[in-house]
Amino acid sequence: MRLSRYFLPVLKENPSEAQIVSHRLMLRAGMIKQQAAGIYSWLPMGFKVLKRIEQIVHEEQVRAGHIPLLMPTLQSADLWRESGRYDAYGPEMLRIKDRHDREMLYGPTNEEMITDIFRSHVGSYKDLPLTLYHIQWKFRDEVRPRFGVMRGREFLMKDGYNFDVDKDSALHAYNRHMVSYLRTYERMGLTAIPMRADSGPIGGDDTHEFLVLAQTGESEVFFDDRVTTLTLGDRAVDYDDREAVAAVCEEFTTLYARTDETHDAGLFDAVPEEHRKVARGIEVGQIFYFGTKYSEPMGAVVVNDKGERVPVHMGSHGIGVSRLLGAIIEASHDDKGIIWPEGVTPFHAGIVNLKQGDEAADAACEALYKALAGVGLEALYDDRNDRAGAKFATMDLIGLPWRITVGPRGLAKGVVELTSRRTGESEEMTPEAAVARLV
Ligand code: ATP
Ligand code: MG
Ligand code: MG
Ligand code: MG
Repeated sequence: MRLSRYFLPVLKENPSEAQIVSHRLMLRAGMIKQQAAGIYSWLPMGFKVLKRIEQIVHEEQVRAGHIPLLMPTLQSADLWRESGRYDAYGPEMLRIKDRHDREMLYGPTNEEMITDIFRSHVGSYKDLPLTLYHIQWKFRDEVRPRFGVMRGREFLMKDGYNFDVDKDSALHAYNRHMVSYLRTYERMGLTAIPMRADSGPIGGDDTHEFLVLAQTGESEVFFDDRVTTLTLGDRAVDYDDREAVAAVCEEFTTLYARTDETHDAGLFDAVPEEHRKVARGIEVGQIFYFGTKYSEPMGAVVVNDKGERVPVHMGSHGIGVSRLLGAIIEASHDDKGIIWPEGVTPFHAGIVNLKQGDEAADAACEALYKALAGVGLEALYDDRNDRAGAKFATMDLIGLPWRITVGPRGLAKGVVELTSRRTGESEEMTPEAAVARLV
């Protein structure tokens, strides 16, 4: 993309409404625009990152054997009356009437709807296990929408639902979700710690939240800091192998890590003092096993191998897709701007032309731009007639992992400059070598 033809409405001033760094940087980098409290337009740069995050979420869900579909944002109130949640849910639910006076709602979550789909089409244990998920907009009329996309009212969530014939099989689905989530967050450059949590209004027996440590996080968390060094890395996990999947979960959930809701001071005291940490965290996901809570009242039953009709065991598992943008920026920025992890960056590299209009510089930039595209890397080429300082400031603000600086002086020596946004280190090399380095 050539910056002269892009739409990147960068703000020079710090927006006064933003209280935390990720919100401030998303506004300044022209990623989002607020349309109403907690409701945002996703401008091209923000939209690009959102799509990359979505893509990683999809890939890891499919890898775990989960199946994508798409349910609508609007739901009928009657469905929620069946589970008893229409009245129970409270003012966070946006309730709407259509022209025929039928009661509708903008979905805050989809347990009822997915259970309805299931009961309409599945009747035998032979069709199980089954996990369906979607990535869809949700609406929750939060009392205090704030911190930009971190606590929006309209927000994008991946929510998945497993259907299993018994508890053991449902717990395997729970564990599969835990492992796939760990991999998802790692690919985004995040350390998200699974913490034992409280089941709250969805209700359930087993639940973990995934928290990214950040001072601006809304949850207070207590943990053994050795948990922050665990990584999944490249190891292959066979998602069909119950023991193997359970072993990974065990590894990640044995050290003490809890949110304030389930914190147990007695157990925490047993953690060696030098490892005992109290901090704040951002909830970027949560997994639940809740058994037959919805399948029983809504009649989602299957015939088991003994010929008996039994309600299915279910769980629901969510990732805050739009919140993740904020969480990633909270975890990865400096005083100049965002530092995108390679896994989610909107462009792989920025090209800065120090002397727009100089024949050699223009030609070298064009050649670089094409060479990068040729190896599948998308560059953002700053081809505007602007001061070098201003171009550098924009690149630092928007946080692309690499910057290639091209100017007449370097070109006379046959080199360009490759700069890492994270370390700030620069190196001179031929344009070919710079492309080779980024592949
Ligand atoms: P919170 O405790 O932050 O209100 P929640 O526990 O109510 O979140 P869940 O029902 O577990 O949320 O939804 C799954 C995920 O969706 C959360 O882990 C979070 O990442 C994301 N999420 C929830 N509410 C919002 C919101 N208002 N804005 C953006 N993301 C949200
Ligand atoms: Mg909430
Ligand atoms: Mg929560
Ligand atoms: Mg939650």
